[in-house]
Amino acid sequence: MSQVAYVNGAFVSSDQATVSVYDHGFLYGDGVFEGIRVYHGRVLRLREHVARLYESARTIMLQIPAPPEEMERLIVETVRRNGLRDAYIRPVVSRGRGDLGIDPRKCPAPTIVIIVDKIQLYPEEAYRVGLKMITATHRKASADALNPRVKSLNYLNQIMARMEANLHGANEALMLNAQGYVCECSADNIFHVKNGEVFTPAPHLGILRGVTRDAVIEIGRDLGVAVHEGTYTLHDLYTADEMFLTGTGAELGPVVTLDGRSIGDGKPGPVTNRLIGAFRDLVAHEGTPVFDEASVR
Ligand code: PMP
Repeated sequence: MSQVAYVNGAFVSSDQATVSVYDHGFLYGDGVFEGIRVYHGRVLRLREHVARLYESARTIMLQIPAPPEEMERLIVETVRRNGLRDAYIRPVVSRGRGDLGIDPRKCPAPTIVIIVDKIQLYPEEAYRVGLKMITATHRKASADALNPRVKSLNYLNQIMARMEANLHGANEALMLNAQGYVCECSADNIFHVKNGEVFTPAPHLGILRGVTRDAVIEIGRDLGVAVHEGTYTLHDLYTADEMFLTGTGAELGPVVTLDGRSIGDGKPGPVTNRLIGAFRDLVAHEGTPVFDEASVR
């Protein structure tokens, strides 16, 4: 079904939405993006996502031609025009139209696109029985090459890892950094649980600092569960009691096997299930309202 998309100042049918073949987002992956969710007619952590979009843009010296408040307003308006109460939002800001060289000085105006649609990253069953994961041979790009904190349009590194997962019949791929420390999955952050405590790799190791990750750290601490951000190896993961991944698209997904080893008893664990429940409560109450509050259920 066709949706309403925002493209450079106009709301158009997503079937008709186009950008130039000279757009450097298309030619070179020169740009930044976000993934945001709407739950029950409210946009979850809109401010945090927009702040990350502007931080990503700042590092790549991409001047977004609107203040963050205007971007927030445009995002809400695009959702409103789609009428979807539960949806996924994809704001993209690329360097814009240039010539066939890479020089960004040839791109006078960034392209701004906002897409709203449904998303299902993994099969529904995988959330019930748990996801299968493998470790990719492709390592995360190091922070001095292309910092993974920047949510850029260059996802080929992650896509290579995801293809490895597909080749192995797994749902997801875990990625390590060049030193062999656990980083994150191809498009999600990773957590493990040991003796009732929760652990997740620290941002400096070379991960995207996920908004869902931050929400889960917050929820865990509110529940009185110890949550640690640190440096972990595959050994820590293979010997964990539980494992789960987090992301806006993925939400919270239990991981029950890694590289052919069962994690814990091979079933979604109690701490994971508790956090999933608390996350559901959070999305039921939080967020920026899109529609008339009276009509939101
Ligand atoms: N890591 C990567 C590489 C991602 O692309 C994403 C977002 N899909 C995440 C982690 C999770 O971030 P968030 O919770 O903000 O969606």
